[in-house]
Formats: sequence, C-alpha cells, structure tokens
Amino acid sequence: MLSNPEKEQLKAVLETARRRLAKVGQSALNYSMNHERNIGRDSIDESMEEELFSTEMRLHDREKYLLGKVDKQLARLRDDLIDVCESCGEKIAFKRLLARPVTTQCIDCKEQNEREEAAIEQPGQGAGLEGGGLGELGAADE
Ligand SMILES: [Zn+2]
Repeated sequence: MLSNPEKEQLKAVLETARRRLAKVGQSALNYSMNHERNIGRDSIDESMEEELFSTEMRLHDREKYLLGKVDKQLARLRDDLIDVCESCGEKIAFKRLLARPVTTQCIDCKEQNEREEAAIEQPGQGAGLEGGGLGELGAADE
C-alpha cells in the first residue's frame, strides 16, 4: 500500500489533470454555443466552420474519455486500490503511477497487453486512445 505522502502526491497530480480537462471541455461547449449564433454566414465560411467544429468535438470526446479515467483513478485512490493492478492484483510501483497517473495495470500486464495488441494490429498504426494517455498534461503517455 502507498504511504500517505505518496497518496497525497498522486491525488494532487490527478486533481490538476482533472481541472485542466474540465476546462478544455468547457471551452468546447462555448465553441458550440458560438457556432449556433454564426449560422447564416456564406457557405464557404460555413463549411470551414463545420470542419473546425467537428475537430473541436473530437477533441472534446477525447477529453471526456480522459476525464473518465482520471475520475476512476481518484475513486481507486479513495479506496486504497490505486496501486493494485486491475488485471493480476499485483502492486503497481509508485514511480510508475507518478509517471502514468491514469494507469490501472502493472508494467508486466501492460507489456503483455501491448504485445497482444501488436499481434492483432497492423504495424505502423497508432496506439489509439489508450496510447493518448495524459501526455499533453505533463505526464508520460500511458
Ligand atoms: Zn498486473
């Protein structure tokens, strides 16, 4: 089990990530409200706006997905389960959690999953949402 200072540190990292994600979600919402008011401009503008809008919405979906992962980790933290691997029940190293705050698997299970995914997926394809991680939030990719 993690020590209290370790838990506090992880909680701070997760809560910072949560605030940032919530803020991005809010700006996507504002964008969609502005979009409503802009209807009626000429068609070239509209198709460009349409494109921007769908990009913004895709980003928003990703933030929502990450927010869900952060919330799940905060719940795991409260239950003293944050350092327990979801797959095998082994301990997840504190250093790993600090580098990848939304991880729910120990390094062994994660590596095994990645090997299985690599066997299924075509080489050269991206890692998808799981690979997105919290990289842009200052933590390493999951
Ligand atoms: Zn494991």
